[in-house]
Amino acid sequence: MKKIAVLTSGGDAPGMNAAIRAVVRKARYHGVEVVGVYHGYEGLYNENYKPLDIGSVGDIIQRGGTILYSARFPEFKEGDYQEQAIERMKKAGIEGLVVIGGDGSYRGAMQLTEKGFPCVGIPGTIDNDVPGTEYTIGFDTALNTVVDSIDKIRDTATSHENTFVIEVMGRDAGDIALWAGLAGGAESILIPEEKFEIEDIVTRLERGASRGKRHSIIIVAEGVMKGHKLAKQLEERTGVKIRTSVLGHIQRGGSPSARDRVLAGLFGARAVELLIEGKGGRAVGIKNHNVVDYDFKVAFEQKHQADLSLYTLSKELSI
Ligand code: ADP
Repeated sequence: MKKIAVLTSGGDAPGMNAAIRAVVRKARYHGVEVVGVYHGYEGLYNENYKPLDIGSVGDIIQRGGTILYSARFPEFKEGDYQEQAIERMKKAGIEGLVVIGGDGSYRGAMQLTEKGFPCVGIPGTIDNDVPGTEYTIGFDTALNTVVDSIDKIRDTATSHENTFVIEVMGRDAGDIALWAGLAGGAESILIPEEKFEIEDIVTRLERGASRGKRHSIIIVAEGVMKGHKLAKQLEERTGVKIRTSVLGHIQRGGSPSARDRVLAGLFGARAVELLIEGKGGRAVGIKNHNVVDYDFKVAFEQKHQADLSLYTLSKELSI
């Protein structure tokens, strides 16, 4: 393999740049040229390529976002677009592709591989919901951003004796809510993976109040319901004013944590090794502290599951 390409696709995540850097540096270490594809699959289809040398990925390891930009390009689900993209890559001498993104991006990579063009997937999303890995690049940074925000909101909640609902991201996954809720000492955590009873939250609030507790933090994952809606329901039942904070896109940004940078380095290096070894169609991940790789189909069979023992623990610690 003489030349490979790399792109970022789907929702951006802190640490994607560190992964791009790792891909470029590892490939160059083995004498392989790298082409950066701008704007995800849209750029792949439109030949929006630019060579990436060792220097071009300098000073990006610490930066959030992605220097290659990301895009959604639904047209890429169609076979014609995929075939065109393959033809254009081949014409440019590109022999393999690293895709950094979530499960939607993986499906594009799997289909290109099935059409004869070897691709490897690196899990990059703050939601931690990619199959075939316990952790994705970006999750740890987003988690720390959320915990930092909870701490700050707690300061004002304590001072004014308020109850806050904090809505966090995660799409259909509860990992951000669960981990941040546990780390931030939330009184209640609502995640899509577990049913909840509004009365249970009310009971917890009332139990806390009877102990003299004058403030509370409730974390709700966006996949459960809107924070404002939950606050309204709680207000109706308790008669107490509930404030809402929707953390929003700050969760996607910021300098990647050390852990995300290390993960990006490990994943980027393994992805390049796989392509050099002629093993396309693989999804890279981490399991039990080891870097692993699975055939895309096998990865898709291992749907990501939130660690529900943390949910049980959070209930025990916030009685
Ligand atoms: P993520 O990768 O974060 O899950 P999306 O689901 O939005 O984000 O997917 C990102 C992009 O991947 C889409 O805009 C599209 O270009 C491509 N993609 C998604 N699903 C498929 C699919 N089934 N087949 C081919 N390409 C896909």
